[in-house]
Amino acid sequence: MEKILIVEDEEKLARFIELELEHEGYQVGKASNGREGLALVEAGSFDLVLLDIMLPGLNGIEVLRRIRNFSKIPVILLTARDTVVDKVTGLDGGADDYITKPFAIEELLARIRACLRKTAAACEADQSALQIDSLTLYPERREVKIEQDNIELTRREFDLLHYLLQNKNIVMDRERLLNQIWGYDYSGGTNSVDVYIRYLRAKIEEPYNIKLIHTVRGIGYVIKDED
Ligand code: CA
Repeated sequence: MEKILIVEDEEKLARFIELELEHEGYQVGKASNGREGLALVEAGSFDLVLLDIMLPGLNGIEVLRRIRNFSKIPVILLTARDTVVDKVTGLDGGADDYITKPFAIEELLARIRACLRKTAAACEADQSALQIDSLTLYPERREVKIEQDNIELTRREFDLLHYLLQNKNIVMDRERLLNQIWGYDYSGGTNSVDVYIRYLRAKIEEPYNIKLIHTVRGIGYVIKDED
């Protein structure tokens, strides 16, 4: 059962949301000010936070900033003020979504579901991710990241890198790479492999001054951590 924390100083509203969430089958925790909310997030058992912006003491934006220092827990901001500034500040501060009071409870529930789904999908993607040095490849999303940069690869470059990573530390000969990535009916020679290895190196190694793909002379290539 997913646990949701409500950080809201308006007791009646907090109670109303609590009952609705419990009715939907969520477990609910409540905090009536920012410090208490932050402490409960730090304690670590919640899956999502509904965070009011206008709170006594520590305001919601500041609570969010502090949460983001240690946690990626999804946060939906609640606010009475429908101003662009709030929205931008909140989303820049790492909020996952934003809802303006007064809101229909169905809308809040829909946003909560969407937020939890997105987090679950991101978790799955992270689990199947392949990593070497500072590079991470996400097979489902077909994304490659180095540090915080998204690396733009063509389909063939991505497939080649993916295959090398699946076989990390194993030397792959050119024939095998050609058959695997280009297919058995490809009529070009194995130098296509060399060409694409060069493309990859220009995108993932040279700009970051790292060495991942190693040439094994007379045979092919291997991807491995620098020794
Ligand atoms: Ca408030």
